[in-house]
Amino acid sequence: MERTKEQKMLKIPPRKIMTPGPVEVDPRVLRAMSMPILGQFDPAFTQIMNEVMDMLREAFQTKNHWAYPIDGTSRAGLEAVIASLIEPGDRMLVPIYGRFGDLFVEIGERYGAEIHTMNCPWGTVFEPQEVINELKKIRPKVVALVHGETSTGRMQPLSEIGHACREFDALLVVDSVATFGGADVRVDEWCLDAVIGGAQKCLSVPSGITPITYNERVEKVILSRKKVARGIATDSDRRAASVMPIRSNYFDLSQLQDYWSERRLNHHTEATSMEYALHEGLRLVLDEGLAARFIRHKVNEKALMVGIEAMGLELFGDPDCKMPTVTCVAVPDGVSADDVRNVLLKQFGIEIAGSFGSLQGKIWRIGTMGYGCRKDNVLAVLAGLEASLIRCGGSVNRGEALQAALDVYDEAAE
Ligand SMILES: *Cc1c(COP(=O)(O)O)cnc(C)c1O
Repeated sequence: MERTKEQKMLKIPPRKIMTPGPVEVDPRVLRAMSMPILGQFDPAFTQIMNEVMDMLREAFQTKNHWAYPIDGTSRAGLEAVIASLIEPGDRMLVPIYGRFGDLFVEIGERYGAEIHTMNCPWGTVFEPQEVINELKKIRPKVVALVHGETSTGRMQPLSEIGHACREFDALLVVDSVATFGGADVRVDEWCLDAVIGGAQKCLSVPSGITPITYNERVEKVILSRKKVARGIATDSDRRAASVMPIRSNYFDLSQLQDYWSERRLNHHTEATSMEYALHEGLRLVLDEGLAARFIRHKVNEKALMVGIEAMGLELFGDPDCKMPTVTCVAVPDGVSADDVRNVLLKQFGIEIAGSFGSLQGKIWRIGTMGYGCRKDNVLAVLAGLEASLIRCGGSVNRGEALQAALDVYDEAAE
């Protein structure tokens, strides 16, 4: 068969990706990914693994020994933690305030958890005390919470809930996929037991690798299940001992941590190029410094929000719990959310996101994450959105958005 010219060579159109992930990858990360492959037990490679662990501890603000990546997208990190903790019949409390809370339910159910959910309206978060009351009532083994809900652009305060989980002996598992590297995630100070971060969001690393960290409370559960897996032959004996082995092979943290320990016991073949990418992504975070990085995200977020409002559009959701890395904009009456997004992509090469479920067609979501969280991107998305809206029959305050955003940048530069 004759190959068309296009099939011979990839042609990637230039884009500004302003979605809540995946986002543009830093050129330094792309360069790291093009380096030669090493064997997974080569000391030159295991040295890189150790450096990744050190940098992850720093980025997660933790003294946990275990901080290493799972090979797979962020969902793989969530599944690895839940699969390794949840035995059939274990109680799991999931407070849901957006789409990604449902994902915890979906994964927990598959591993046999007895799920208890709580709900609050999309666009808000839980009062910590509400969750703590439920925790006292249900006494779950695991509380699973999303830190930054990308579907609604909200961020759940975790510290009080974390301390309460210690008091009532529950393990707090946190999805910080969309905040890790872009907003404060204080694993130790907030008493988070297991935390899943993201690569393709605020780290600006391609999708396909997922940093996690967990403490000794989590490790204890994992190791108890490992002993069972090795020591007891039949399922009925295991049930009698009331501990079941971890049901997933790929996501068995007890085996994965053996590979990430000095023993280097073989599990799967490490995704070498992704490891290089993560290494460089973490170096970028720590070179910039966590505090400076979080301020950069806040400044660009502010410029974006101010610009959106100056244009005459409304922001969606409770401003008191807004995520700094995702800004949700109410789609004005009379315009189609998708038409505007299509014009923005076609004419400007800028991608923004819609949303899910009841918010579909009602809001746009604009990400300001990692390498994509830049002044030129914010100014471009404001200019492009204004023009696209006018193109699609919307009415806006012409020319106001960029001036308002530039004022924010001028102020920040002073
Ligand atoms: C993006 C995202 C995920 C899922 O990540 P994948 O890499 O697509 O598996 C999970 N949780 C949150 C909060 C996210 O934003």
